[in-house]
Amino acid sequence: MENNCPVCNKINFKFMGVPKVNSLSSGFIKTTYQVVQCKNCGLYYVAPAISFTPEQWQALYNSEYFASQTEWLYNQRKKELLGRFTKAEQLLNKKENINFLDVGCGEGNALAEAAKRNWNATGIDITDNRNENAKTENINFKTGSLLEQNFPADTFDFVYMDSVLEHTLQPLEYLTEIKRILKKNGIVYVGIPNEDCLFNTIRKIVFTLTGKGNISVKIKPFDTPYHVVGFNKSSLQFIVNKAGLTLAELENVGRKMDFLSFKITSKGFWISFIFLFPIEIFGMLLKKDVYYSAYLTK
Ligand SMILES: [Zn+2]
Repeated sequence: MENNCPVCNKINFKFMGVPKVNSLSSGFIKTTYQVVQCKNCGLYYVAPAISFTPEQWQALYNSEYFASQTEWLYNQRKKELLGRFTKAEQLLNKKENINFLDVGCGEGNALAEAAKRNWNATGIDITDNRNENAKTENINFKTGSLLEQNFPADTFDFVYMDSVLEHTLQPLEYLTEIKRILKKNGIVYVGIPNEDCLFNTIRKIVFTLTGKGNISVKIKPFDTPYHVVGFNKSSLQFIVNKAGLTLAELENVGRKMDFLSFKITSKGFWISFIFLFPIEIFGMLLKKDVYYSAYLTK
């Protein structure tokens, strides 16, 4: 069982490389893992299946996941969030009485915005990392996994899942559960990295030239940000269909001028400006940008 694709369940894959391992996760690793791509559905995943305990995952995420951000990045994220909410209102064709669920709500920015719009807001996360403005009385919060909540069927108008699916070892179970609890004309937002982006292709070339060609550039299961599964356009389409949902809209997006996410005095700013900025521009032109924003319907 343990080498099966977590989406289509087949054992027919291509070796993509060995995963990069950081010092923290190296302490938990007892098996030789590979990053592979399923030849049937296109999913990138780890074989054999990762066997860390919940406590070990917790330790990895607690270490450095919520990094500090610049004001530019804060404003950019806010703008992106507002754009998604506006799009959801258009697709739902209503602005009121919206039952909203944020799966993996993190710091709670989406919850706070939903409450501001008088939506009925619920958030779930494995730990409570919410800021104070997302801890108001009109916001419900549940600790744990979506799969153990047992929400009634046909409950939510809008389910929001930004940068979450790539962190779960059971992506199909998540989307199938979301379909069950979504109302008939409801909308799901899924934000997810595009593993076949130009940036990853360039990284592979750089790795090969520097003698590190055996390291996978697809997903980073054992190094921050701990992506354990990865998608491209066709594998995203596959999982959405398999969960019984429909892809209503798909946008290939990237945050241009990402160097502004770093302080000008940091190394990250200059690396990002000189190397990443040109790749971001070409990636956009080639439609191989780093991220997908998907809107799904039932
Ligand atoms: Zn598969």
